Amino acid sequence: MKPADIAVIGGGIAGAASCVALAQRGVRPVWVAAPPAKDRARIGETLSPAANTILVDLGLADLITRPIHRPANTSFSAWGSGQLRERNAIVHLEGPGTVLDRAGFEADLFATALKTSPRHIETTVQHARLENDKWHLGFANGEEGVFRFVLDCTGRASSLAATQGTRKRADQLVAAHCFLQQTDLDVAPTPATLIETVEDGWWYAALLPSGDMVISYFSDPDLLPAGVSRDHGVWAGLVAQTRHISRWIDSAGFSLGDHLPILASAGTTWMTPASGPNWAAVGDAAAAFDPLSSHGMTTALWMARQASEAIFQAHKGSGDALIAYNAAVQKGVREFLTQRQKIYRQETRFVDTPFWLRRQKDDRPNCKIDNLP
Ligand SMILES: Cc1cc2nc3c(=O)[nH]c(=O)nc-3n(C[C@H](O)[C@H](O)[C@H](O)COP(=O)(O)OP(=O)(O)OC[C@H]3O[C@@H](n4cnc5c(N)ncnc54)[C@H](O)[C@@H]3O)c2cc1C
Repeated sequence: MKPADIAVIGGGIAGAASCVALAQRGVRPVWVAAPPAKDRARIGETLSPAANTILVDLGLADLITRPIHRPANTSFSAWGSGQLRERNAIVHLEGPGTVLDRAGFEADLFATALKTSPRHIETTVQHARLENDKWHLGFANGEEGVFRFVLDCTGRASSLAATQGTRKRADQLVAAHCFLQQTDLDVAPTPATLIETVEDGWWYAALLPSGDMVISYFSDPDLLPAGVSRDHGVWAGLVAQTRHISRWIDSAGFSLGDHLPILASAGTTWMTPASGPNWAAVGDAAAAFDPLSSHGMTTALWMARQASEAIFQAHKGSGDALIAYNAAVQKGVREFLTQRQKIYRQETRFVDTPFWLRRQKDDRPNCKIDNLP
């Protein structure tokens, strides 16, 4: 197989893992990806236990054994009740999940993938055109490339897949997240994760392996207080309304300082279809989930493995594998939506408020999934 046969676009977990998975099949793609920004903390650090076996399959198990990460043994949740309950990782058959140094994990994965890809183009794709069954990609550096197959790993932008299908959306969830530093170093905080529901959404806090803490508030854009990402008083007022999160911040020796939260889209959206005869979307480009499940990174790794095999089969002449890949993605989305609804329905204290009302009702007909087998 010639190198220009396949292009992988995107330098996140999906793109890097796809390069690794293709290399396992003796395929060396052209990788169009900007390297991960070194100076930027990455949001989303809980790697679910289900990732463990996929990482082994991809030959990447060593990536999470570095001491920059820690096992995700302990989590507490006040969901459906004001009482904080402990959930222990021992219940997972795959073993505990991992709280990642996300930037470190992505940098290590990127470096591993680079070794497998002889042609790495440090740029972005500006436009994609399908002509005579070939992809014509125009890069931001002015170059162009022609490819038989493309894996779109461009995250929620789904830069190439969006030209071939429709991006569907189940909700408008948005995250306001902020990293906190410990100010009282006499306290040794418990390495844990904490979830708490409130009237207009839910909170997540985790002690990171670095010793910093991340706190995230998930709500809908129309329910976020005005100025939350600009006015420290508004942000501090929001945190103060929590019962457990605010208490943990204080008792673990952290303070809000003058940091303001950063807003990020966190809703459940997916591409339909997620693949065609000569392309496949991988990771968030195919389906991005409400982070409640902490499955985004694991799904990106799983899709990288599946899509790489499907593209490999398609190159050998079997188009069925790409059809099956799309069906598997759509089935995964449908199962996720069912699961998501079950979890939101467990919180019955706030059923009269818009955030919970929107998620308690059966909205699945509004997010009809096409192309199911
Ligand atoms: C608030 C929040 C919290 C989360 N928490 C968790 C968590 O705890 N656990 C978990 O498993 N998941 C979590 N997730 C989800 C997880 O972060 C994503 O599922 C994961 O990052 C998907 O990886 P990806 O490679 O598909 O996409 P991305 O990480 O978005 O990577 C896409 C890459 O493509 C590049 N790109 C975009 N357009 C182009 C282009 N045209 N050309 C070339 N490159 C391009 C981007 O620069 C980027 O590098 C969270 C998400 C959010 C929003």
